[in-house]
Amino acid sequence: MARLQGKIGIVTGGGSGIGAATVRRFRREGARVVIADVDFAAAQAVAAEPGGPAVAEVIDVREEAAWQTLVATTERRFGGLHILVNNAGIVGDMASQDPERLSLEEWRRIAAVDTESVFLGCKTAIPAIARSGGGSIVNISSIAALRPTPALAGYGAAKAGVRQLTQSVALHCAQKKLGIRCNSVHPGIVNTPMFEAAFSAEERMRRTEAVPLGRLGEPDDIADAILFLASDEARYITGAKLIVDGGIVMD
Ligand code: NAP
Repeated sequence: MARLQGKIGIVTGGGSGIGAATVRRFRREGARVVIADVDFAAAQAVAAEPGGPAVAEVIDVREEAAWQTLVATTERRFGGLHILVNNAGIVGDMASQDPERLSLEEWRRIAAVDTESVFLGCKTAIPAIARSGGGSIVNISSIAALRPTPALAGYGAAKAGVRQLTQSVALHCAQKKLGIRCNSVHPGIVNTPMFEAAFSAEERMRRTEAVPLGRLGEPDDIADAILFLASDEARYITGAKLIVDGGIVMD
């Protein structure tokens, strides 16, 4: 049997990179998927690919009202919700993100997209997933949450917030016996538009050479880890962090 047979999921940032790879995995494994992205055309393009049922929805994950609409639309269209992947994110301005140069405005912009959105997604989806009999929330953090990242101070702090929030959500859901697991995934350096935009060609090569497994991560490498945590194969795993980085952190 397919690994997500009968499941209904939302993937934010599903129009690009890791999110798009996750959508493809989910559809292949029998899930019905809502592809939620601020870039509606990109989400539509992924939805138009062959595979199981999928619809594109536009959302700015910073907006609480938009989350309420997204979850209600998902329940109405597909009859429930079992999986939420909080994947949409930004790295922010790479040129001036050390603690001295990072502006308060940029700090808040990164925190809104990378941390607040995960809070809003969990808050809105928990009752819906509980109504459907339980499920799984997967929050996409980063190895930047686990190691000092002076050149990415805002991003690292925002992603560390995702890690801590994940544990609070996991324990809350366990204590309330909602049947909802919540885990974080920590990608290393992944070959996506975000990575290309963030670093120069020389810096990309330097960082790739430093990966113990000797290559850059591909979106599918991360999507396979997300699929595992979303599926019932991970039924006894909650509050965990899954590092998918080719051996950079080894924690
Ligand atoms: P990506 O290719 O840039 O995809 C991110 C998607 O999220 C894009 O479609 C983007 O739309 C969308 N998005 C951005 N802001 C949004 C908002 N406010 N509301 C809704 N959608 C929004 O990035 P990726 O590399 O796949 O990253 C996916 C996740 O993995 C992120 O959380 C990222 O922090 C994390 N991560 C990535 C790496 C890496 O090396 N790539 C490493 C560690 C962690 P636009 O393109 O229009 O902005």
